[in-house]
Amino acid sequence: MKLGVLAVLTSTGMGLVLNGGAVAFQSWYQPATPAARQPFTGTLDAHPTIALTFDDLPAAGRLPQGENRTKIATTLTGELKAMHLEGTYGFVNAVKLDNDPDAQQALRVWVDAGMNIGSHTWSHMSLTANSTEAFEHEIALNEPALAQYAGARDWHWFRYPFLWEGDTLDKRHAVRAYLKDHGYRVAQVSLDFEDYAWNDAYARCSAKPDNEAIAWRKQSYLDAAAEYIRLGREEEQIAFGHEIPNVMLLHATAFTTLTLPDLVDLLHQEGFRFVTLPEVENDPVYTEDPDAALKYGGTFPDQFMDSRHLPHPAFKPKPFDKLKDLCK
Ligand SMILES: [Zn+2]
Repeated sequence: MKLGVLAVLTSTGMGLVLNGGAVAFQSWYQPATPAARQPFTGTLDAHPTIALTFDDLPAAGRLPQGENRTKIATTLTGELKAMHLEGTYGFVNAVKLDNDPDAQQALRVWVDAGMNIGSHTWSHMSLTANSTEAFEHEIALNEPALAQYAGARDWHWFRYPFLWEGDTLDKRHAVRAYLKDHGYRVAQVSLDFEDYAWNDAYARCSAKPDNEAIAWRKQSYLDAAAEYIRLGREEEQIAFGHEIPNVMLLHATAFTTLTLPDLVDLLHQEGFRFVTLPEVENDPVYTEDPDAALKYGGTFPDQFMDSRHLPHPAFKPKPFDKLKDLCK
């Protein structure tokens, strides 16, 4: 397999895209050929650290029947507070607040619960598909809502939609300079398993509850999380020579409210200790920059792996084909 494709396999190739006013999923996943890779033979750290982050606030993914954004935000923040994870960052597309009292209330619930917010551009814009000027305009357009909801708290953290940081070096450099000039720090991601894909199936299936299908979705979600946490940590060792403090990318969907406690249990079992996003990103490793034009971006380790043509370890593909067919 060509190395250029690997970035697609292991990066967050998804987000919500606005399509004529409707919100639709866009996935860039391509089937993997894991047999071509070698198993990792190193040893993982006993006590890694991690910060959880949530993208696409205040309206991530399809809504299942009977749900609304406020209910999801209330449940999710309740779970985070029960796990002492106040201060968790969520990245906002303010376009979703327009004329939507439920979305507005959901974001209010998020910040009132002690969670933080950062920018994810106004409409989840792709830097690959758009000009630097258009992208910077979207960053500026997002700011009034961030300032309004965050109040005195720091909202100057930026998560690139799709984790795409520029398909040309000119774009990459220009946007990074813009972010720096405007006081932002980039909220890099080290661990990602495209969690959003399970929510779509969940929303579709909610009309016809099926206990067996629900149990499979939960278990396959946790299996994929475990597999891609391991893969991300192995990539860190290959890319940097050691594991680094982690940031996990999740989406604030209805399905996440069903799985978050189990996911956090899994992380505890793996020895993870929870820290804040600023604590993680203050590690000197995050001042490093692969400085590469990457059409499909990717996690922080992915970007180093792909730009330096390092071999990815073996991993199991996610069950996207089965998820896509559920309840159709
Ligand atoms: Zn996103």
